Amino acid sequence: MPLADFDRYPLTFGPSPVHPLERLSRHLGGPRIWAKREDCNSGLAYGGNKTRKLEYIVPDAIAQGADTLVSIGGYQSNHTRQVAAVAARLGMKARLVQERWVDWPDVVNDKVGNILLSRIMGADVRLDPAGFGIGIKDSWETALEEVRASGGVPYGIPAGASEHRLGGLGFAGWADEVARQERELGVFFDTVVVCTVTGSTHAGMIAGFAGQDRPRRVLGIDASATIDQTREQVARIARHTADLIGLDRPLRDDEITVLEGWAGERYGIPVASTIEAIRLTGRLEGMIIDPVYEGKSMAGLIDLVTTGEIPPDSTVLYAHLGGQPALNAYAGAFG
Ligand code: PLP
Repeated sequence: MPLADFDRYPLTFGPSPVHPLERLSRHLGGPRIWAKREDCNSGLAYGGNKTRKLEYIVPDAIAQGADTLVSIGGYQSNHTRQVAAVAARLGMKARLVQERWVDWPDVVNDKVGNILLSRIMGADVRLDPAGFGIGIKDSWETALEEVRASGGVPYGIPAGASEHRLGGLGFAGWADEVARQERELGVFFDTVVVCTVTGSTHAGMIAGFAGQDRPRRVLGIDASATIDQTREQVARIARHTADLIGLDRPLRDDEITVLEGWAGERYGIPVASTIEAIRLTGRLEGMIIDPVYEGKSMAGLIDLVTTGEIPPDSTVLYAHLGGQPALNAYAGAFG
């Protein structure tokens, strides 16, 4: 059925801002680069891409009579922070499994940034030594069981809200929003650059844009160095979401592009290009990006522009998906 017929619980301020990155565009020479800002899309704990996904998931949680949102991520998960904020907003509890996804030497990793915010918002935060993984984890199933055993009604939201039936809808809606903003602004973004890890942000965009008349490139930048798994997950969620919103044709393989080369060796570990992209964006635009996700996708954008892979006559939309609170756990990376 059409996206407009799905229940949506508003958690964002409305359309997220779109603005040109003039000094960055001039510095790189060539394409005009704009940003669409999910990092300031909501008043709920700094917002971010998960807040937009949760708008389509919350009605299902309410319909099921849930009183506890149960989710999972790394210590510095932006996703679990947004789940904690949404639970607070709804008057529900949040039970969060925080895994050791990153072996980062900073001793404050499990104390500052996102995890601190989740604790402030009253979430039941439990640390778990397990490493990175975007699939369904036993620890998450156990958390659901524990909530049930203590008389609660849990509602499970997997990592990044991606392996969820409705996880792609938020960013299918983002694609429609972009088209409306293009009409208002009198621009057309022929290329969209987006960070990809658990997949449903990029996948939702692909499904949403596929229903529009004018084709464009939606380039996912892998930030977890698990490229085969990420490609498979993006393709699967994109096709599922396209079916859900009634796209009248199958998605083609060439509509699903996840590029590798900027993740470094591991999820959560910034490399030189990540830090350089963060500094450059901060210095030229006053726009803050993080070392786990957007620093890597911005490094990708910079290289794609510099090598001409994104041609000089392009108009590019950089999806800023949030994530800045994690910066606090990475002070050491900035010397
Ligand atoms: N950017 C930020 C700030 C995130 O928190 C995430 C979450 O994983 C992503 C990008 C990647 O989005 P997705 O997990 O939907 O691929």
